[in-house]
Amino acid sequence: MSIDLHIHSTASDGTLTPLEILSLAHRIGLAAIAITDHDTLAGSRQLLESPALGPIRAISGVEISASPPPICPQRGSFHVLGYGIAFDYFPLNRILERLQNARQERNPKIIQRLNALGFTMNMAEVIELAGGTDGLGRPHIARLMKHKGYVENIDEAFECYLGHGKPAYVDKFRVPCHEAMALIRDAGGIPVLAHPGVTLDPAIDLDRLLTDLVPMGLGGIEVYYPDHNTAQTARYAAAARRYGLLMTGGSDFHGSLKPEIQLGTGTGDLVVPDALFTTLTETLSAHRTRVPGPHG
Ligand code: AMP
Ligand code: ZN
Ligand code: FE
Ligand code: FE
Repeated sequence: MSIDLHIHSTASDGTLTPLEILSLAHRIGLAAIAITDHDTLAGSRQLLESPALGPIRAISGVEISASPPPICPQRGSFHVLGYGIAFDYFPLNRILERLQNARQERNPKIIQRLNALGFTMNMAEVIELAGGTDGLGRPHIARLMKHKGYVENIDEAFECYLGHGKPAYVDKFRVPCHEAMALIRDAGGIPVLAHPGVTLDPAIDLDRLLTDLVPMGLGGIEVYYPDHNTAQTARYAAAARRYGLLMTGGSDFHGSLKPEIQLGTGTGDLVVPDALFTTLTETLSAHRTRVPGPHG
């Protein structure tokens, strides 16, 4: 049995609703799932409140847009996953709201840059194609560019215009990663370093990084991920053992906004062992009985 602990829904930049994700997970026989939308708990909450979970185990999740710690040379995003968080912890919700506001301010600026580059498009069209205003971001803008024939595919939109350092790139507020991890801990959850193989500069000294992140509250590493090759998976698994961190994994499914990625299996060969889910939930409950969380 396998699990998928990294999934995006329509609450951010996925194209399936939480309930559609749940029924797909039933169909393909996943043992456990987590919806980890960018900077919002709405999709995860809907999943956990669904009466249709059946045999599927689920845990709350989020993927926070953080800024990298000082030791990381790269700019741009440093994604921190949070699992097992309480939905109603006010300080976390307040920061997520700030991140959502930052997106709302950023998207029109990206459109302005694209207009200046000669592309005729506006926010109303982005919203219409996305089917709503929830969690809008660059992937939705990329989809409109594709729809209008300005690019062949979403990757090309990022490579040529929207990616970090490209002509239509606009920076946005990100939570300092120590703060993101502290908020996840305070909300009763476990912070996990998302897709290290994608996030980290290959030159980074992983031991130095983890030596910094563990005291900040890091509790796990996303070891299993579609873009991780065998050597990376082994390297991150070994690092998790060295630092006593949990291992997690998932597909980073986004529906048709990342058409090459399938739920559960990623690009086809991803297998996230369900034993990881048991360890994660056991760690969370041990943690709850030891430390009185924000909800007692
Ligand atoms: P945003 O939240 O607006 O900063 O956009 C982040 C999203 O863009 C993430 O979900 C990524 O999956 C997606 N993304 C980032 N870089 C690329 C890329 N080069 N190609 C396709 N999608 C990307
Ligand atoms: Zn995304
Ligand atoms: Fe991510
Ligand atoms: Fe993601």
